[in-house]
Amino acid sequence: MEEKRDFGDLEREVIEKGKCALCGGCVATCRLLDYGYLSVDFSKERPVIREGQQCPPDCGYCYHQCPRVEKPALREGFEEMYEVVSTDEEIINACQDGGVVTSLLAYALDDALVEGCVTVADKGEWRPEVQVAMDKAGLIKGAGSKYTPAAALTGIADAILTYDLWSVALVGTPCDMVSYEKMLVVGRGTHNAHNFSSHIRLRIGLFCMGSYGYEQLMKTYLEEEHGIDINEVTKMQISDNVLHVYTGDKELLSAGIEDIADYKRDGCKVCEDFTGLFSDISVGNVGSPEGKSSVIVRTDFGKEVFEGALERGYIEAKPIEPSGADLIHRLMKEKKEAGIAEKGRRKKKMEEGKK
Ligand code: SF4
Ligand code: SF4
Ligand code: SF4
Repeated sequence: MEEKRDFGDLEREVIEKGKCALCGGCVATCRLLDYGYLSVDFSKERPVIREGQQCPPDCGYCYHQCPRVEKPALREGFEEMYEVVSTDEEIINACQDGGVVTSLLAYALDDALVEGCVTVADKGEWRPEVQVAMDKAGLIKGAGSKYTPAAALTGIADAILTYDLWSVALVGTPCDMVSYEKMLVVGRGTHNAHNFSSHIRLRIGLFCMGSYGYEQLMKTYLEEEHGIDINEVTKMQISDNVLHVYTGDKELLSAGIEDIADYKRDGCKVCEDFTGLFSDISVGNVGSPEGKSSVIVRTDFGKEVFEGALERGYIEAKPIEPSGADLIHRLMKEKKEAGIAEKGRRKKKMEEGKK
């Protein structure tokens, strides 16, 4: 029989150990979701329960949902890699790297493969805000990486409970994808009070080398150290290990990511997944020429969406150059090794602390 768990266990084993990816999966599947019992405190960048409250006995939905407690098994898939660009000028002009994610979602919405898409928009000052986009304007609002944690899976709960959608797409980082998969796996058992799993449809994972604390990256680093007014920033992009910050066409800053290594979230330092192995389709700016995105199609459904978007003229694609595929594979390997090494360091430190 499964051991009884509650939020206290999640706190001790994941959050306080610096492993939380802030995916929001625990919040979305909390048994007392309707009461806002578990939420994300963005000032502390962690999930919290309402002060003075006690979890009902024999619950533990949040604990069993968390992908950092136990990772789900990777389902069999494939890996087809392409260089891709959107064909929609409006989307290209509004988005990073060819507008591919936005165009894939636009196709999925237009063809009624999904009813709504959970993406992350900017609610001002580059603060991430999870939204449910149901048209092209909403998709454009949520385009581009934000580089600070958003708890994207809380948007699944919104899409289903607030908007009453039956089929939902999620765009997120690899940790969001694994949490989404966990929702599917766990939801088929006993631990998903809201049965979200039957509404989950398309998963688009964004290549990710790390996410940064909002206050540290935006306020300390950009505003205080570099005198950049965050309200003027129109585009931020990490590519080839360099952080680029723009206002319009003007580049305000170009700095190696080693400069912001200290601001990387602890939960990201143990992360092993660069491309989003649990996605239907992964997209990123590594491995393709500027203005295009690299796309990895991983599942039959991902292939259906990708080929549909191609046939209907939403995107243009060609197989990726071998050098691009090699670069992606090298970074996948490096991130995996770095995550394993960090876990090893933490384990050793803990053992030494016990002596
Ligand atoms: S899911 Fe259950 S154990 Fe977890 S925070 Fe909500 S009520 Fe508590
Ligand atoms: S990793 Fe996700 S599910 Fe686990 S504690 Fe953090 S926010 Fe919750
Ligand atoms: S590095 Fe890993 S844990 Fe951090 S945001 Fe990216 S995918 Fe999530």
